[in-house]
Amino acid sequence: MLKSLDLLTANDRPGQHANSWYAATAGWKTGYPALAGEVTADVVIVGGGYTGLSSALHLAEAGLSVVVLEAHRIGWGASGRNGGQVGSGQRLDQITLEDMVGKSDARLLWDLAEDSKAIVHELIGKHQIDCDYRPGILYADHRPDIAREHADYAEHLAQHYGYHDIEVLSRAAIQARLASPLYHGGALDKGAGHVHPLNLALGIGRAAERAGARIFEASTVTGYRNDGGKITVTTAGGQVKASHMVLACNGYLGKLEPKVSARVMPINNFIIVTEPLGSERAEALIQGGVAVADSKFVINYFRMTHDHRLLFGGGETYGYRFPADIPEFVRKPLKSVFPQLADVRIDYGWGGTLAITPKRMPYFSRLAPNIFNASGYSGHGVAMACLAGRLIGEAVAGNTARFEVFERIRIPSFPGGASMRFPLLVLAMTWFSLRDRLGI
Ligand SMILES: Cc1cc2nc3c(=O)[nH]c(=O)nc-3n(C[C@H](O)[C@H](O)[C@H](O)COP(=O)(O)OP(=O)(O)OC[C@H]3O[C@@H](n4cnc5c(N)ncnc54)[C@H](O)[C@@H]3O)c2cc1C
Repeated sequence: MLKSLDLLTANDRPGQHANSWYAATAGWKTGYPALAGEVTADVVIVGGGYTGLSSALHLAEAGLSVVVLEAHRIGWGASGRNGGQVGSGQRLDQITLEDMVGKSDARLLWDLAEDSKAIVHELIGKHQIDCDYRPGILYADHRPDIAREHADYAEHLAQHYGYHDIEVLSRAAIQARLASPLYHGGALDKGAGHVHPLNLALGIGRAAERAGARIFEASTVTGYRNDGGKITVTTAGGQVKASHMVLACNGYLGKLEPKVSARVMPINNFIIVTEPLGSERAEALIQGGVAVADSKFVINYFRMTHDHRLLFGGGETYGYRFPADIPEFVRKPLKSVFPQLADVRIDYGWGGTLAITPKRMPYFSRLAPNIFNASGYSGHGVAMACLAGRLIGEAVAGNTARFEVFERIRIPSFPGGASMRFPLLVLAMTWFSLRDRLGI
């Protein structure tokens, strides 16, 4: 019973990446050993996604001894299965952030977000990570009022943040770029982009290993103790003793740390990939190699792969189990965006678990002076989790200023506590997805 409620084991094959197009086209496979016996380190990191691997890289580069413990394989979680979109800004827009945290911290959060994109570019360049970065995210608005707001927001970013990479698109302009009848306008962000997410995760892992981090796969952490600043982390096969710990489990945290799981809720999201459509048809569907994300509450996001398939993400579930037939589950939103692809063959379909917070901003915290947590990126974690690793590296070295910008955002617990948070979330989310379907 308990086993089926554990997202680390509920939906996927243990020790293997999800059966995705990403896994099928990954640049290489990992084969790190499982932890056996007792190991000591300066820092032990639980979780081998972008948060954990980027932390490992930055801490190892700073000369610390680092151990990463990953339950399955590095990049197994959301980092190896996501939409690959490297978006600008935070998950919340700057106007909302100005109200929430004040103008000064909103500015710092914008600057950190710009830094997060720069870090992705730096990692790719410095460590020669072959993850097919391509520029451009097209934000497509499904209602005219949202398109108007979007245009005003682009103006706000230009005026107050000096960001000029957004081209506002009229209905005619978006329809010329995107073969979908659904959208009334949009905005092309040329400073954003998209990657092959699993290759990015594997590349950061390899860079961390080269910098001296020791990575253990198939090593699920079952618990930890912090005795007077000395941490002991336990897996079935061994123990790591360290002076610092980084919790980097995001949606897969489970019951490992209740203070974090009260604020960070797992939700599942799904992606399908079609048969190859050929280069001409691909370019006719989405022009210019950009990725697209729309304005629905349950966002549709899509792009063409380098082998001219449509990769389409859409549909969410809020329980522990993925739908039995993911291709059919996602085909529905696919048809609403591209009715002309109603009968296309679907070659891949997979799910992944991300984590949201009640405020839709990540939860960065120190659970003790020597225990760091970064999670709950709320669907905006590709660049932000890479940044988290750098900020944790700075904080462990004693420079906490940039980590604290996130720490200052008060992230409350989900209402209802551990037992009721799921039913309440399902109620709220179902209402919002109904609004999507009704077009209100
Ligand atoms: C389908 C999908 C689409 C998405 N699309 C986008 C997008 O386009 N753009 C964007 O910015 N964000 C997107 N996201 C979100 C983004 O992928 C995440 O925010 C980001 O990958 C989080 O990285 P992470 O390292 O914190 O977590 P994860 O990558 O989930 O890594 C956590 C790791 O911790 C391990 N772990 C957990 N518990 C234990 C334990 N007890 N012992 C050992 N290991 C443990 C897990 O096995 C896992 O590998 C998407 C997410 C999903 C699921």
